Amino acid sequence: MPLPDPALVVLVGASGSGKSTWASRHYRAAEIVSSDQLRGVVGSGEHDLDASTDAFALLEQVVAARLGRRLTTVVDTLGTDAPRRRRWLAAARGAGLPGVAVVLDTPAGVCRSRNAARDRPVPARALERQLASVAATTDLLAGEGWDAVLVLTPDDLPTYLPTAGPR
Ligand code: ATP
Ligand code: MG
Repeated sequence: MPLPDPALVVLVGASGSGKSTWASRHYRAAEIVSSDQLRGVVGSGEHDLDASTDAFALLEQVVAARLGRRLTTVVDTLGTDAPRRRRWLAAARGAGLPGVAVVLDTPAGVCRSRNAARDRPVPARALERQLASVAATTDLLAGEGWDAVLVLTPDDLPTYLPTAGPR
């Protein structure tokens, strides 16, 4: 399914579900606004959770500025924060852009094994919380007014060779 462009694209998925990989296959780097990447900009690295508040403040600013210029903006976060989703969608609408939610509906077992294989895995209990909140979010999306909600299952995703891919 071709997505509208320009558009707001909000990714939803647990750690290891493939959000950053999918985004990098479909969008230019400048179009992707990633909370992990911004932690690396304002903190000691992508995993510096102490830098989250600053990283998200910056993310909100970048998203608002890009949407205000009617530029395609792919928001690469967990996507499970409903007030943030509402704000981003309102900003897109204000700029006359459609808003699309893209759920990386990757099986929990795949996320767990990808996570376990990482250098810096998310703690197992944190990943379980993420998986539960992604499932709850998926149920909410239909009622949030998105122009499209795309739920990508493994059948929709090409299998990429394991590489040092984006995170
Ligand atoms: P995080 O929330 O931690 O940023 P993420 O959802 O962005 O995670 P990715 O970093 O894109 O997930 O992918 C996690 C791992 O899974 C990476 O090693 C990546 O190469 C691999 N991966 C992602 N998508 C696929 C795919 N379709 N086929 C095979 N491997 C994949
Ligand atoms: Mg990522």
